[in-house]
Amino acid sequence: MNQTVVTRFAPSPTGYLHVGGARTALFDWLLARHFGGRFLLRIEDTDLARSTQQACDQLLEDLRWLGLQWDNADLLFQSKRTDIYNALIEKLIAESKGYKAYETAEELDALRKQAEKDKRVFIYRRPQLTDAQARQYESEGRPHVVRFAMPVRDYRFDDAVLGPGQGVPATQVQDFVIRKSDGMPTYHFAVVVDDEAMGITHVLRGQEHLLNTVLHIGLQEALGYRRPIYMHLPVIQNLDGSKMGKRDRDKKVRVTVQMWMKNQKRTVADLSAATGIGTDRLAAWIDNSKSQLDLSEQKLVMPAVGLRESDLPEVLVHDFRRNGYIPEVLLNFLALLGFSPGENIEKMTMDDMVQRFAIEGIGKSNAKFDRNKLLSFNTDFCATAPTSRLVPAFRDFLSVNPDSPLNRATDAQLGRIVEMGRGVHNLRQLDDKSSFMLLEDDAVQYAPDAVEKVLKKNDGQGLKALKDIRPLLETVTDWKHTAIEAVVTDYCTRAALGLGKVAQPIRVAISGNTISPPIFETLEFMGKTSVLSRIDRCIAIAR
Ligand code: GLU
Repeated sequence: MNQTVVTRFAPSPTGYLHVGGARTALFDWLLARHFGGRFLLRIEDTDLARSTQQACDQLLEDLRWLGLQWDNADLLFQSKRTDIYNALIEKLIAESKGYKAYETAEELDALRKQAEKDKRVFIYRRPQLTDAQARQYESEGRPHVVRFAMPVRDYRFDDAVLGPGQGVPATQVQDFVIRKSDGMPTYHFAVVVDDEAMGITHVLRGQEHLLNTVLHIGLQEALGYRRPIYMHLPVIQNLDGSKMGKRDRDKKVRVTVQMWMKNQKRTVADLSAATGIGTDRLAAWIDNSKSQLDLSEQKLVMPAVGLRESDLPEVLVHDFRRNGYIPEVLLNFLALLGFSPGENIEKMTMDDMVQRFAIEGIGKSNAKFDRNKLLSFNTDFCATAPTSRLVPAFRDFLSVNPDSPLNRATDAQLGRIVEMGRGVHNLRQLDDKSSFMLLEDDAVQYAPDAVEKVLKKNDGQGLKALKDIRPLLETVTDWKHTAIEAVVTDYCTRAALGLGKVAQPIRVAISGNTISPPIFETLEFMGKTSVLSRIDRCIAIAR
């Protein structure tokens, strides 16, 4: 490439960063890094009603978490550039390339309906206002938008991913809004002005924007701008071909509710009683897979059927972070959504990705978001990454999961937990199986079914083993896993019990449940005092 590559990521700050947006940002970043160019960030906040400062902050945090650092210290906020857009819009109006349009939403709707009736596609072209009408509207201060008078002709452009000949014929060309009635520019206008102002050489974005490019080209020509290279990226879908989005989370709640009703013989009325949501509302939602619960309703329904937030399929970058995915693993996975490095390579470090990234490797067809594949990448990383990488990753996980008791752990303790927990799929799982260790001893909650199955069943065999082992553990002076193991196995031999018959009661006593990291290391980690005190408390509770 002769010229410096300049790419931009241009999110609208209306919520958290979606993985689709993250994939676009990654490709922008990779292209810029690969060619030693620049990756710029622009905040498209012209939709005043939907853009928020909080969403903007969150977006920056999500990008930083991914490690996609942008090169412009001064971010470009479109909302601060209205004077620039307006000056250009006035110029277009003066040149008769733009004009004020006064139709109300109702009038436009009527025109659309009429076209539908006549079985033709509705195409908006400049209405012929008389001078007198125009003056009257002007003096009345009538609400209006500004439209661009799109020259009517075929528009064709080359897309570096999809190939030549993209675009539309003259019959589909129409005049479009460039300034809304609230005085803000539309996306189409601001994007064209800013891509030029920022010297963008390559525009990467999702294929849903493909036809918008025609409008952008029309504007570029009218304003005398260059045309950047366009690269429209494959759409990301679920494995079944459906669109990936918040709906997937609602679907998971619905399916769980249906199972809960079936397996536990519950009715909509039971769910209504448990959640305080009306039966009509719940029934309408359960039966109509096109409807969705509001977030507030979802929060009420989930605990009633035993669902945790972390059980829902992740959609936003933040969801993946909260569920214990590692940023570089997520990026590796996202890189493969529409890009193929060739040679059957899949696992890549950030450096590998930068090196291998090539426009020719970007595909045209839809990319499938295979959650199992992502999970297996993450599992491999958790198994093989050095502890020195996993500890900060775990610390970060804990920072967005402030309720976890592991927030109290030192880095050295987290390091040991990471090592004991090798084999987990993600940090959430590591947290689930290890967090009991940092609880106060009297805060351990004993799961009734674990107590029943492991301690009370078979005439209290488990409880008896626990009572037997307690004084033996007390005799261990050098509290190391090897010494603890020696005492326990010795007892097992003498009592003719398999190791599990003793280890499992100990596990329940210290954790309240049946899952923990390897038991002897865990006991060593917790310390003798804490172990004995938990055993005592458990014996008292199970009695
Ligand atoms: N703000 C637009 C979006 O979030 C940017 C699209 C583009 O890259 O032009 O979809």
